[in-house]
Amino acid sequence: MSQSDLIVAKFGGTSVADFDAMNRSADVVLADASVRLVVLSASAGITNLLVALAEGKQLEERAYHLDEIRRIQYAIIDRLQQPDVIREEIDRMIENIATLSETSALATSTALTDELVSHGELMSTLLFVEILRERKQAAEWFDVRKVMRTNDRFGRAEPDVAQLKELAASQLQPRLGEALIITQGFIGSESKGRTTTLGRGGSDYTAALLGEALNAKRIDIWTDVPGIYTTDPRIVPAAKRIDEITFEEAAEMATFGAKVLHPATILPAVRSDIPVFVGSSKDPAAGGTMVRENTANPPLFRALALRRRQTLLTLHSLNMLHARGFLAEVFNILARHNISVDLITTSEVSVALTLDTTGSTSTGDSLLTQALLTELSSLCRVEVEENLALVALIGNELSTACGVGKKVFGVMEQFNLRLICYGASIHNLCFLVPGDDAEQVIRTLHNSLFE
Ligand code: ADP
Ligand code: ASP
Ligand code: MG
Repeated sequence: MSQSDLIVAKFGGTSVADFDAMNRSADVVLADASVRLVVLSASAGITNLLVALAEGKQLEERAYHLDEIRRIQYAIIDRLQQPDVIREEIDRMIENIATLSETSALATSTALTDELVSHGELMSTLLFVEILRERKQAAEWFDVRKVMRTNDRFGRAEPDVAQLKELAASQLQPRLGEALIITQGFIGSESKGRTTTLGRGGSDYTAALLGEALNAKRIDIWTDVPGIYTTDPRIVPAAKRIDEITFEEAAEMATFGAKVLHPATILPAVRSDIPVFVGSSKDPAAGGTMVRENTANPPLFRALALRRRQTLLTLHSLNMLHARGFLAEVFNILARHNISVDLITTSEVSVALTLDTTGSTSTGDSLLTQALLTELSSLCRVEVEENLALVALIGNELSTACGVGKKVFGVMEQFNLRLICYGASIHNLCFLVPGDDAEQVIRTLHNSLFE
């Protein structure tokens, strides 16, 4: 098979949640001979349990979490025809998890967290290989850490695309003709061989990176919804499926919180112009969304996205008046603390900004450390507001069209708009609202702009 015939298929947590889900995903894989490389998430719920263990639990809670992990994975093993060998392998993994979580309870670290959480993907891929073998398919388990080299920013590691390409060509490419290759999303390894992770939801990104490295003709993201919708269908059941969307629009949606794609997924796809398909493994016949470079007639309003748990910092300083370099100093401090700024607005004597918390395994609020606050406070008065939500309207030519403000804000009168960003991109308009109002804001806006 030539490389350009290759499809990389990724299945998310719900698509490998249990025995039946794994078999449905196997059906999807086997329905298309071009699918030679399969990237999997951990079975639904496992990563959350592992992250909780990495936070350092006491003995009793540890036992509870370990039992839950065992229960989820055993439910799959128990339905295999020949469960014994794989049960031993999974038991070894769970023993590792137990040892690592015991260590976490004494002293936790980001490197240890990544090592611990990687076991979710290691287990789901072992189980899926077994499912395929029972269906008489030649399938081979591949440890993605052999090729997915990253830096050592544990919890949110960045891949080395050039090394990945080289290693994929020598280690993965030759195997693709021989068997279906089943590998892990989300995890990688740094130069010393320690396990890293690409951030929560990172398996989508893995699939796109591998697709790019192997010059695939398409990347298929199989999840629990049949495509990308005008907004999260869990919030608005009337949301409509978008049949075709551009890379730029999809990237904006993902960046601004549409969980259906990890924010970085589109980067490799755009770089190498590889279309991305999003569909439901529960209902592949329902079709899905195709993400590609161009689509016919991109509309003014495309979709609404929501990002919860946003923290707003407002920095006040009279010294800012007519002064130079104040913002530079603020950004310097934030950069030293490894924080990137998300939204920003300014006035004469103050600047309001949100911290970018997407994707990492650490929680949003933990970015705001005491050390950071102390340093900022030496420069200016700092006000912190938590539990805000970022609502983003994604579209085309938004900043050059007339009447956008009226259409959007005209229906927002019962809500407090805490901050508005508009004009930096033709593709989005976004604002902060109190977290408790977020879903109502989305429903109201969706109703007026999309229904
Ligand atoms: P997976 O585990 O397969 O990666 P995720 O839970 O990460 O799945 O992503 C799928 C979920 O994304 C859906 O169940 C849906 O609730 C949510 N979602 C958010 N915004 C959208 C959107 N615009 N279109 C479709 N799904 C969305
Ligand atoms: N299992 C990881 C998570 O839950 C990665 C993924 O599912 O994409 O975040
Ligand atoms: Mg996901």
